Amino acid sequence: MLCLRDYQDKSLLSLRQGFIDGYKTLILYMPTGGGKTESAITLLVATAKKGKKAAMVMDRRILVDQTSQRLDKYGIDHGVLMADHWRWRPQEDIQICSAQTLEKCEYFPKLDLIIVDECHTVRKSVSDFIKNTGVRSIGLSSSPFTKGLGKLYEDVVCDVTTNELVNDGSLVPLRIFCAKEIDMTGAKKVAGEWSQKESTERGIKITGDIVTEWVKKTHEFFDKPEKTIVFCAGVAHGEDLQKRFQESGYNFVSISYRDDNQYKKDVIEEFSKPDSDIVGLIATDILTKGFDVPDVKIGISARPFTKSFSSHVQQMGRVMRSFPGKDFALWLDHSGNYIRFQDEWEELYSNGVSTLDDGKEKPKPEPSDKEKEVAKCPKCQFLWPPKSDICSNCGHVRERKNDVIIKAGELEEINGASKKEKYSSEFKESFYRELLKYADDMGYNSGWAYYKYHDKFKIYPSWKKEKAEYVSQEVMNYIISQNIRYAKRRRA
Ligand SMILES: [Zn+2]
Repeated sequence: MLCLRDYQDKSLLSLRQGFIDGYKTLILYMPTGGGKTESAITLLVATAKKGKKAAMVMDRRILVDQTSQRLDKYGIDHGVLMADHWRWRPQEDIQICSAQTLEKCEYFPKLDLIIVDECHTVRKSVSDFIKNTGVRSIGLSSSPFTKGLGKLYEDVVCDVTTNELVNDGSLVPLRIFCAKEIDMTGAKKVAGEWSQKESTERGIKITGDIVTEWVKKTHEFFDKPEKTIVFCAGVAHGEDLQKRFQESGYNFVSISYRDDNQYKKDVIEEFSKPDSDIVGLIATDILTKGFDVPDVKIGISARPFTKSFSSHVQQMGRVMRSFPGKDFALWLDHSGNYIRFQDEWEELYSNGVSTLDDGKEKPKPEPSDKEKEVAKCPKCQFLWPPKSDICSNCGHVRERKNDVIIKAGELEEINGASKKEKYSSEFKESFYRELLKYADDMGYNSGWAYYKYHDKFKIYPSWKKEKAEYVSQEVMNYIISQNIRYAKRRRA
């Protein structure tokens, strides 16, 4: 049967305690590779043992069969709630279904627990079901940052961080190179995110650079072509990349939502083989869920996001799976996403998730050229290590430029006008903690403090979310002055 790791046991205890405390809807956060599905299966079995009914809702149909096979592997009786499915067994206590089934299915058993896989993708059918039935619900996610989650789920359980999983060897660390970037200056947005059409057109302009960079890096680090996933900007970009990689003698295959399911299944199956003929898989968004090929050693990020931190996190999670002989994975960033989301990623990496913040996914302010420049080694483009003047990849020693200071986890640009406003890290930390205290007193969520802090210092806080004992006059004055400015702007 299933043998859970310590933090998985701990997570299940936290969920149980949450329900005892009166919560009805909770999210279980675990990084990709943390074993969310095993934890969920344990919960399903525990519920069924008590003679109660539980269902697990998968985000896509293809994942229903995968999960059903997994249950079979463990010898767990279950049914699949799809009218035409060979495993239609409505009398079973454990049921697997897809979000689409919830929409269409006329028959649905009365449930005691529903588990929603990949709950950061909010489906109306699932939300409606949870609201209408009032059933105890657990959402599973490794990136619970999408808008609306905080309205559906009351709290989040997080008992393990990416950092801890890297330290215990369950995941491998990323070595990050900030390579030539797709230029998104002035690109159009659709619903706050850069349009796929624009990113595709702009992505194609640097296809040659992406191929050249990959050829160089795979030989430099592995002495041979290593298994790679490319997250491209759109279908045409994927096709262009496939052509250019193949012209250079490397078998890269592009798949997208336009290909039929059988073809995609065959390609992924071939790519999953240890001695696969396919070196690289080029994907238009679809690999971000339920895809598991742990021997991939290189990830290429070539789909710029301005707000979708979730997608960025999911993509990195694809290449961080551990595998025998894999000590690290290379992350070749052509999208600018790494630096754009660096603060949030470092916070998530070290501290996990503590609140469900409805407003977290907002378009990110673009880092300035100078911030981008100081974030990487000028010689090899390796992400510059914190608190250091020496590149940990190539050993390049950086000249101390007097107007640029780098600190752990944050980039600070100190020049011209902002030079006068130079704050110590103690000051900034206590400022953040006092904002948290104010937010708590006012009943705001911690995201409010997060954005107020950004308004003030132009960077996101990297401090722990520990609120101060009291709010000083200085912070109070700042909040009041901001409120006045805001009110003026609204009147204007
Ligand atoms: Zn370097």
